[in-house]
Amino acid sequence: MPSVPVKRPRAAPRAAAASTAGVAPRVGFVSLGCPKALVDAERIVTQLRAEGYVISPSYQDSDLVVVNTCGFIDDAVRESLDAIGEALAENGKVIVTGCLGAKAGSEGGSLVAETHPSVLAVTGPHALEEVMGHVHTHLPRPHDPFVDLVPDGGVKLTPRHYAYLKISEGCNHRCSFCIIPSMRGDLVSRPIGEVVREAQALFKAGVKELLVISQDTSAYGVDIRYRTDFVDGRPVRTRMTELCRELGRVAQDHGAWIRLHYVYPYPHVDEVLELMAEGSVLPYLDVPFQHSHPEVLKRMKRPASGERNLERIQDWRKIVPALTVRSTFIAGFPGETEAHFEDLLAFLKEAELDRVGCFAYSPVEGATANDLDGALPDEVREDRRKRFMQVQQRISRRLLKRKVGSTQRVLIDAAGPEGAIGRSSADAPEIDGVVHIAPHPTLKAGAFVDVVIEASDAHDLFGAVAGADGAARGAASPASAQAPAPRKRAAARR
Ligand code: SF4
Repeated sequence: MPSVPVKRPRAAPRAAAASTAGVAPRVGFVSLGCPKALVDAERIVTQLRAEGYVISPSYQDSDLVVVNTCGFIDDAVRESLDAIGEALAENGKVIVTGCLGAKAGSEGGSLVAETHPSVLAVTGPHALEEVMGHVHTHLPRPHDPFVDLVPDGGVKLTPRHYAYLKISEGCNHRCSFCIIPSMRGDLVSRPIGEVVREAQALFKAGVKELLVISQDTSAYGVDIRYRTDFVDGRPVRTRMTELCRELGRVAQDHGAWIRLHYVYPYPHVDEVLELMAEGSVLPYLDVPFQHSHPEVLKRMKRPASGERNLERIQDWRKIVPALTVRSTFIAGFPGETEAHFEDLLAFLKEAELDRVGCFAYSPVEGATANDLDGALPDEVREDRRKRFMQVQQRISRRLLKRKVGSTQRVLIDAAGPEGAIGRSSADAPEIDGVVHIAPHPTLKAGAFVDVVIEASDAHDLFGAVAGADGAARGAASPASAQAPAPRKRAAARR
């Protein structure tokens, strides 16, 4: 499933901070797009560092700039083209990679090359070798690679304590609003042994939360018929349940969390719910439902029909009462009637999903949905999105209020003299709410603490570190809590 772009820093300052001095060739890196694009960026930056290139934090200090783009929605295309233009203006030597690189322009060539003919080279997503080849051509690799400067877990563009783990590339579905399969191709799953080895390296490097990503996590291994691979010398099938079990085992050895994204509600997801009930994997499911009405879902060509989704959610909650369900929806899809939309609102009210994002439908160039009849005016789409989010706000406020008085395990993202911001099992980074915590000497980024929840609003929780007796120490409330660093909440992603 595609993701709405999450804006990333215009360079990789953490990587730059660890760089070598002086003579090594310097590469600037701009990374835009979703977590899948971020993982591609991390691989390229890791390889650059492994070969002795320095990652430079500014255009002026770079010998060449790589721009990792997103091409999913029109805004993302515009943002990526602007970023390429900026890099060309500020530096002049630019290599473009990522989803936008795979997009055709009006003359049949690459859209990027048509818009910015002076770029040095353009590749599609997931193209580490190709990108490195172009870098070698335009900025020869240093003679003596500083391999020992690369940490075991590779160079991460996320904070040190969490990381995205990409388990597959591409998608076998053909949702009518989406162009991901045409950009990234059909599903290609990574062998389970390789994925678990990467997880082990990340945990050894200090990661405390791994976020499993793909286009369709439930389909993991389908393309290779769940082929058996080896994990620490044991034969294990390349399949979602087995992967969650193995990752859960490694995570528990390191006192860390596993969080699953982009899970489609296929029957075998129930097996993963059992693992959540055991505590191997966080009780959190990111399921992109997109709509409730079967007729709209049919026009969207979605893999799950929607008829049994309410029942499924209720069954999941019976297995894991503390389950958090996050989802995303599209309002105003072509042909959506007021009755269809009312059905969606009724679904929302009944399902009581914990975390929800909603987009007003916007056509994506190249998507088959553009050929559907019944396109709705922009105002209707936006009005429905607003009405949807108003209903969800009330639900979210009510659900979060129920947590007041409870104690939540929280992973701290940022801490300072004014308190800390962290996330409970219900909060994925960037897309969900946070827990604001009153000042306490034990608070530091990357640490787990138990927090007594004292207040809530429509998005976030507020609390204080639990003492040995379980009582709160300090106080944080919506009115009094000061976040140590402002944090932008991304609306949602698909
Ligand atoms: S499942 Fe549908 S929306 Fe998601 S990547 Fe595949 S085609 Fe796109």
